[in-house]
Amino acid sequence: MSNCAIVGINWGDEGKGRMVDLLTEDYDVVVRYQGGGNAGHTVINEFGKFALHLLPSGIFRNGVVNILGNGVALDPENLWTEMRDVMEKGVALTPDILKISDRASLLLPWHREQDVLEEARLADKKYGSTKQGIAPFYSDKYQKKTVLAGELFYPEELKTHLADLLEWKNLTLTKVYGAAPFTMEMLDRWIADACEKIKPYICDTGEFLKQAQKDGKRILFEAQLGSLRDLDYGIYPYTTSSNTTAAYAPIGAGLPSAKLDNVVGVVKAYSTCVGEGPFVCEMFGEEAEALRKAGFEYGAKTGRPRRVGPIDLVATRYGVEVQAATEIALTKLDVLCYMEKIPVCTKYILNGKETDRFPFPSALKQAKPVIKYFDGWQCDISAARTWEELPRAAREYVSFIEKEIGCKITYVSVGPERDSIIIRK
Ligand code: GDP
Repeated sequence: MSNCAIVGINWGDEGKGRMVDLLTEDYDVVVRYQGGGNAGHTVINEFGKFALHLLPSGIFRNGVVNILGNGVALDPENLWTEMRDVMEKGVALTPDILKISDRASLLLPWHREQDVLEEARLADKKYGSTKQGIAPFYSDKYQKKTVLAGELFYPEELKTHLADLLEWKNLTLTKVYGAAPFTMEMLDRWIADACEKIKPYICDTGEFLKQAQKDGKRILFEAQLGSLRDLDYGIYPYTTSSNTTAAYAPIGAGLPSAKLDNVVGVVKAYSTCVGEGPFVCEMFGEEAEALRKAGFEYGAKTGRPRRVGPIDLVATRYGVEVQAATEIALTKLDVLCYMEKIPVCTKYILNGKETDRFPFPSALKQAKPVIKYFDGWQCDISAARTWEELPRAAREYVSFIEKEIGCKITYVSVGPERDSIIIRK
C-alpha cells in the first residue's frame, strides 16, 4: 500500500504510536498532520520507552523521513525539549530524517498561558484542557493571528509581524483576564532560544512530499487523538481543536493531492477517555479502578487517571465510519485477562428506545448503555503471536467486535512491545 493513515477510532490513547512504530517498517515517510503536544504516543523499542508528543513515531526507524506537517500546532519550546530527550537516548535526529513544514503555524509563548487562564475562568465548567495552548493556538490560526515557521527566515518581517500580534494579544491578556502583558524582549528570547534550535529542520516539506509521491515512496500519515475528539465529528465542545479524521490527512500533511489507499483505525479492547465530556459507558468504583490499574490508564502527558469503561460498539462503529477505516488494529486485549465476565456496550437506550446510532452530542448525556457479557479467558495471552494461539473466548470476543463494527480486525495487539502483535492478513 503506498499511502496509509493510522488514526484513532475512539477518544484517543488507543495505542496509535505503538502501531505507527510497528508499521513504519513498510514506509519511507511518516507525517504528523494535526494536533500538538497535548497528547502522548507511547512507543517502546530498542532505544527505550518514549512518550512522543509532537515528534512523528517513525523517528526510530532507519531510513524513514519524518515530517511535521502544516496542520500541526508547532510549539518550538516543547518540540525542542522532546527532540533533546530523544537524542540523549541515542536517536540521531538530523534535518535529513526530521523535517518541519515552513507552513506550520507556530504556537506562541502566550498560547499556553491563555489556555491556563481560560480554564481557570471556566472553573467548574472547564473543558479539561491539557493546558498546552492548543485551543488558543488553533483559534488564533483561524483568525490569522499567528506566524508561520518559515517566517523565521525573514527576521525583519517577523519582528514587525510579532509586534502587531503582541499588541493585539496583550489586549486580551490584560483586559479580559487581568494578567501581565508579554513583552517584545520575551519574544526575542523565544526566537533566540527555542526557534533557533528548530530552524535547521524547517523547509518546504510540501515540495519534498510531492517529489516523494512522484518517486513512488510509501507515505504514512499519523494522527493524534481519536474520532470522538474531532472538531467537526466528535463530542463537541469536548473535542480537540483540529480534525483528527483521516480525510484531513492530505491537507494537514501538506500533500493535498494524496489519496489514501488504506486507513488503519486503532481501537482499544475497552474504552478510556481523558478529561471532561459525556462518556456513556463509564465505569465507577472498584470495577473502574481494577481496569485502570490493569491497563495502566494514566495520561502520557498529564499523568491524569483516565476514565474507563467497556468497549463501546456504538461509538466505535461511528468512529470507524467517520474515519472510513479499511482495517482495524485492536489493542490491549491482554489487559482484559483478569476479567471473569467481560462487559461490552452493544447499543444505547435513548428516549426509552434502543439505538445503535451515535447520538448528537447534546443527547449523549441522556444515553444509557446496553451491556452484554462475554466469558473471559482468564489467562495471560501476551505471548500469543498467532490467532490460533489465542484462547477460544478471546477469539470470540474479537470476532464479535469485528462483526459489529463491520471492519476487518487485521492486527490484535497483546502487549506494548513492538513484536507483541498478532497479524491476521
Ligand atoms: P496513543 O496516543 O494512541 O499512541 O496511545 P497512548 O500511548 O497514550 O496509550 C497507549 C498505551 O498503551 C501506551 O502506554 C502503550 O505502551 C500501551 N499499549 C499499546 N498497545 C498495548 C497492548 O496491546 N497491550 C498493552 N498492555 N499495552 C499496550
